[in-house]
Amino acid sequence: MKTVSSSHLGYPRIGEKREWKKTLEAFWSSAISEEEFFSDMKSYRLHSLKKQQQKDIDYIPVNDFSLYDHVLDTAAMFGVVPERFDYEGGKVPLSTYFSMARGSDRAHACEMTKWFDTNYHYIVPEIGHKQPELVENKPLDAFLEAKKELDIQGKPVVLGPFTFLKLSKGYDEKNFEKILDQLVPLYIQLLQELETAGASLVQMDEPILVTDISTEEMALFSKVYEKIAGSLRTVDLMLQTYFEAVTHYKELIKLPVKGIGLDFVSGLEENLRSIQTYGFPEDKLLGLGIIDGRNIWKSTLEDALNMIKQLQKHVSYDRLLLQSSSSLLHVPVSLKHETKLPPIVKEALAFSDEKLDELTLLRDAIIRPDIEHIQAIVLHDQSSNELLRSEWRVKQHPVSLKSSRSSSFVERNKLQRDKWKLPLLPTTTIGSFPQTKEMRKARAKWRKGELSNEVYEALIQEEIKQWIDYQEEIGLDVFVHGEFERNDMVEFFGEKLAGFTFSQNGWVQSYGSRCVKPPIIFGNVSFVEPMTVKETLYAQSLTQKPVKGMLTGPVTILNWSFVRNDISRKEAAFQIAEALLKEVQSLEKAGITMIQVDEPALREGLPLKSSKHNDYLKWAVEAFRTSTSEVADSTQIHTHMCYSEFDEIIESISDMDADVISIETSRSHAELISTFEETVYDKGIGLGVYDIHSPRIPDEKEMVSIIERALSVLPPSLFWINPDCGLKTRSVDEAKNALVNMVKAAHQVRSAAVAAK
Ligand code: GLN
Ligand code: ZN
Repeated sequence: MKTVSSSHLGYPRIGEKREWKKTLEAFWSSAISEEEFFSDMKSYRLHSLKKQQQKDIDYIPVNDFSLYDHVLDTAAMFGVVPERFDYEGGKVPLSTYFSMARGSDRAHACEMTKWFDTNYHYIVPEIGHKQPELVENKPLDAFLEAKKELDIQGKPVVLGPFTFLKLSKGYDEKNFEKILDQLVPLYIQLLQELETAGASLVQMDEPILVTDISTEEMALFSKVYEKIAGSLRTVDLMLQTYFEAVTHYKELIKLPVKGIGLDFVSGLEENLRSIQTYGFPEDKLLGLGIIDGRNIWKSTLEDALNMIKQLQKHVSYDRLLLQSSSSLLHVPVSLKHETKLPPIVKEALAFSDEKLDELTLLRDAIIRPDIEHIQAIVLHDQSSNELLRSEWRVKQHPVSLKSSRSSSFVERNKLQRDKWKLPLLPTTTIGSFPQTKEMRKARAKWRKGELSNEVYEALIQEEIKQWIDYQEEIGLDVFVHGEFERNDMVEFFGEKLAGFTFSQNGWVQSYGSRCVKPPIIFGNVSFVEPMTVKETLYAQSLTQKPVKGMLTGPVTILNWSFVRNDISRKEAAFQIAEALLKEVQSLEKAGITMIQVDEPALREGLPLKSSKHNDYLKWAVEAFRTSTSEVADSTQIHTHMCYSEFDEIIESISDMDADVISIETSRSHAELISTFEETVYDKGIGLGVYDIHSPRIPDEKEMVSIIERALSVLPPSLFWINPDCGLKTRSVDEAKNALVNMVKAAHQVRSAAVAAK
């Protein structure tokens, strides 16, 4: 390698039009044979590789493809299969692999959790039942396939041992080192086999290096890599990090690996400072993650060029690999099929394929800085400028808006009690009711213009009426309209607010075959007209009971969208908050004065480094408050959150100052309750009393005991009874049967409490 080269960290699996997803689901439903399945998957894999080859990427990653998830692949490769799957050793059968991901009749699925701070979810490996062994060398297979089929000398991607073990569960923390010692020889074996096959550079993913790992852990990390690198002769390791700046730069650059990959987008400032302060070793390659792998906007290549020039002092061109900042798994595949985006937006975008073009352009402009290349760079940058020049209105938190309620919770609570006179332990739900097939079909037709507004709206009203009647029948205390008009809690609002646009194929893998298509915030977000008033008022017209208004909060809308990258996330959050406040006020004006503003994604926006938590939490909470504060004291603001690990942010949750909060809990109820044993929460709270994620119908007794347990730490006067999340994914029968039991359980505990008084 004489001069700068290009690479990236992984290509999306899902295909330009989600063909990967369709094949997976067809196989699961037995619509295609295993043979067809494997052959289709292979063709997608090769198709993607071929594209990268045509785009002239120097180091093309292999083994970034997966049939489900790369962490699950790694577990399967080491025979790390929980006992309940009756695995007997050898290569893990495909059926077992999918059972681990999705559960089977006999065994529940492995847990799934978020991959660092992204919206991708991986399957959590469960170590411990059996000693790991290398039962399959997947990176080797991928390497050999690329070589044989396309004559590509691939760069195998391997999830490194330290991160793999850190992300796993099922072992005692104090055995960490022991298990790591078991894994190391397996990694050596895997890499030696790659070496024998002729691999020259392997990407060892160790994103754990950007989290708060301790000095002791870093020392252990170094030991592991010394051992691994010491056992290899011709194959080089690129130790790859992403999502943030590395925590132990000084130690990292001492490791005997050939290359170090750093994120120069999310971790730009700190990583750059580390290089400038401590230098970069002369014998190493630098993987410069300069093209954003997490967002969809074109890069400004001129800035990138300047950065690269600036780095020349420390790293010569022949030691530079221009890369994406992370795997491209987190952005859509290609702009090719987008025909409906506003031209000014489309011009400013770069999905995976376009990012690869950027890498090539950048590399070529460095190799040959002639007029032709310079012009290409200028043209590239200009094309996105029009959007960037369009003005972004809010530069800081709009000072005119209040971010705290006029009175304290105690004062508001008094007014609100007098207003509604709800019984002790009021019952309610989180917002959505099941969406029937007919409703979904009707919406699809309506979107295509095959169904008139009148017919569609009449259908929605019919559903609302049925469910208002049902809530009346079983005796819930606070009703909801059911969210039948919404397909997705962010898209629905995005379509009605100004500043958003939507791609046709901008899908990103969320978990397994499930993909999401995040809205694109390209301009000033603003309120256009009321978005939820009509349905809510209709529901309210059918009953004397209060109907809660139902909105998605600013932080969740932000975290589940792609946002312009020339503005800060904080600014964007406040702009959304300002628009949502107008909706809250529209509801209030229309007489809907119990309003829930959901923030299920607030927790997941938490930065990876704890030193950055406070800043995020501060503006996130303030954005929420901005959207909910300018209302009457007697207006009751609810919020809902979807996670259980929230000990560390409980104070921020309290700072949101919602009158009532409902929290998803059923899967780890005990854990949550112990949080409240240590922390006083003195506002209204509903801890979900049953798990809506399972089709199982909990009986009355079971819920009574959950409520009683919660009441042992929380005051009954502030406690609400509700399921732990919205019911849209359940069948009508499941939802109805569980709710009847929930109301009965509430009544039982309520009578007992009243009698005891
Ligand atoms: N109100 C939403 C619903 O009930 C909340 C969903 C969520 O928390 N993810 O569906
Ligand atoms: Zn939820």
